[in-house]
This record gives sequence, C-alpha cells and structure tokens, in this order.
Amino acid sequence: MKAVHYDAAKTWSVTDVPTPEAAPGQVRIKVGQVGVCGTDLHIHEGEFGAVFPLIPGHEVVGVVDQLGDGVDRFQIGEQVTVNPNVYCGQCAYCLAGRLGQCAAMLGYGSNFQGFFAEYAVADHKLVFSTEGIPADTAVFSEPTSCAMHGLESLQMRPGGSALVLGAGPTGLLLAQLIASGGASSVTVAGPSQFKLDTASRLGVDQVVRISRDDPDANIAALLAASPHGDGYDAVVEATGSPTVGDICVPLTRRGGTVLIYGVTSESDLVRFHPFDVFRREITIKGSFAEMTSFGAAIDALRGGRVRTEGIVTHRFGLDDYGRALDALRADPTAHKVVIVA
Ligand SMILES: [Zn+2]
Ligand SMILES: [Zn+2]
Repeated sequence: MKAVHYDAAKTWSVTDVPTPEAAPGQVRIKVGQVGVCGTDLHIHEGEFGAVFPLIPGHEVVGVVDQLGDGVDRFQIGEQVTVNPNVYCGQCAYCLAGRLGQCAAMLGYGSNFQGFFAEYAVADHKLVFSTEGIPADTAVFSEPTSCAMHGLESLQMRPGGSALVLGAGPTGLLLAQLIASGGASSVTVAGPSQFKLDTASRLGVDQVVRISRDDPDANIAALLAASPHGDGYDAVVEATGSPTVGDICVPLTRRGGTVLIYGVTSESDLVRFHPFDVFRREITIKGSFAEMTSFGAAIDALRGGRVRTEGIVTHRFGLDDYGRALDALRADPTAHKVVIVA
C-alpha cells in the first residue's frame, strides 16, 4: 500500500509499504480522509515526541475493511475513526486513573504508525463508529475530542465570558463547545478575516480581528470588546504563538482562567507579571490531547452541537503530502487541510 513514510525528521517519501493485516483484537481500516494539523508540522521537525521511522497522521476517518479474531463490535464497511492516544495502564498515573498523564503514552502518528496511508490497523478498543456522520465532519473527530478535553480542563464557571485567541480549526471547535458548556458569550480573535467569517457562520457570538505583531493594540482592542471592558473569565491560547501567549493574562478578568491549548515549540517562553496573577487570582492551566473524549466528541458532531461546515479548505492526495504541509505552513487561504487517501 501507499504511505507517507519518515525515516527521520524532515526526511520522508510517499512509498510502498506492506499492507497491515488485522491481528486478533484489531480492526483494519481502509483510510478515507486524514486531517493534517499543526501537530504534524511539529512531528515533521522531529518535535512532539516523534519517534522514527514513522507513518504520521492521527485524525482519521475510514471504513472497516477487515476484522481480527474476536472483534464483533463492527461491520465490514462501517465508517469509523480511531482514538490515536493509548495509555499504558501500568504507570503510576494510569493506576491512579489519570490516563491523560500516562508516562508511557503511545500516539498513533507520533511515536507509533499512523494514518497517512491507504490502510491502517488499530486495537478495536480505540475504534469508534462514525456511521451516518458525513465523512467531512467525521474527520474532525480527533480534534473535537481534544476540544472536549479542553472544555473539561477549563472547568469554566457557567455564565462566564470566554475569549478564544486563534481561529484555526481547533480554536473554532473549542469555541463552540465552550458556548454549549454554559458560557454567556464567546469571542474568537485572530488575524485572518476569512477564518473569523467562518467562526461567525458557525455561531460564535463575536469575532475580533487582531494583528500579528502589535500586542498592546491587541490587548486594548480585546479589552474594549469584552462584555464589561475588563477582560474575559476564560482566555484560551489556541494559536501556539508565544506572542499571543503573552497577552493572555492581561485579557483575563479577576479570578479567571487562562487555558494553554495551542501547541508551541518546546523551547518557547511566554511572559506574565506574577504580581498580576497573584493579585487578581488568575489560574493558568494546560490541556493536552485527550484520552477518553472520543465518545462525547462524536456525539457532539453527530448532534450538530459542534459544526464543521466550511472549515476544510484544502484537500490533497497522499502523493501531495508535501504540498499539504506547505499549505498548512504558509498558505494564507488554508484553514483545515485534509489528505484524501
Ligand atoms: Zn491534530
Ligand atoms: Zn500509563
């Protein structure tokens, strides 16, 4: 079968590899579409815990093509997705029930073979049916699961105001979940007007266009746009840019929460005044991937609570993986980029 295969960071080809067979307990999936996301750019650089050789790709939708012995939960031809995050079950964190902090976590497409390929196999316990959901929506199962975990991590007080900094696909998914999670208003800010237009179409209350390089002006504009002029109860950093990270605390209301949700480079630093965090009792939290959110995310996509229309802007075949990365990295008209296997 054809697959995107990395020998090392930045060294990849689209090549022929053996088609995997479903072992006992596994499901083989004929890959339909795979989302490309910022994480894949980090993996390309060898970051984000990437282990090579590797077939990347962690946002899959496809159909069941072969069932290993003992698997009776799925039908051949059923549309499914895969939770790419696997906990070990035996480290101190797992044994304490903190699966998301597993010290020996496996990630399909980061340190374990992923889905930029024509076929993939996965343990049936990681496979979730998305039958009946349009494939263009089901391909958002993994990022919506991460957003669902983000909502859980945020633990926002009902009735609060929220600001999501970043109008990328994952920011828009999380913004919708925050809205349905009890926020009184959700504002999305970003520099790209067409992404903000998509945010508005998806039902976000307010969008604010900010610049890429004027933090003081951005703080002023976003405070002015906030419900009481004094910021937001929850501020989500969903860009992975440290320049944006720097403006999160000043935009947070007294007693509010900053959620670090975007993926920065490991060496990046953000700055804040500790006196401000102390005096105004600001909480700063992180939310990493997810482990147990697939069922809830798929339900939210199926029921329309999370909408995805118009987010996919670019589609490429496996052979054009390089163009897909380029589009995600540098094409200002790209929102969600998808590989069609
Ligand atoms: Zn992703
Ligand atoms: Zn573990």
